[in-house]
Amino acid sequence: MEDCLFCKIATGEMETDFVYSDDRLVVFKDINPQAPVHLLIVPKKHISNLNNLEKENNNLIGHIYQVAKQLAAEKNIAESGYRIVSNCNDDGGQSVYHIHFHLLGGRKLQWPPG
Ligand code: C5P
Repeated sequence: MEDCLFCKIATGEMETDFVYSDDRLVVFKDINPQAPVHLLIVPKKHISNLNNLEKENNNLIGHIYQVAKQLAAEKNIAESGYRIVSNCNDDGGQSVYHIHFHLLGGRKLQWPPG
């Protein structure tokens, strides 16, 4: 999608170091990390947020969680714990309107979030 930052990153138009990539998604470090481990898992397909998720995307979402689990193990936060977050719309704190999943860990995370 034109003028979508995460589409540009996912297609390689904007050069980014990927922690992981495959045919369906890319993963990179958040530019403004909120925890020692803060990765963004971003599908290549443009979906603006969870409100626009279709049933045909169910397999993709399952794949995202499998990759998140694998990365948590690789980053040594699987045992201590971590969080997956997808912010939706304004009250949810979404700032980039291309669906993505934050993988956060490496410190004790607070609950409830602010
Ligand atoms: O959930 P939200 O939409 O706010 O998340 C977007 C995330 O993308 C932010 O955590 C922000 O730091 C990150 N970001 C980035 N690289 C950019 C622009 C935003 O990692 N060039």
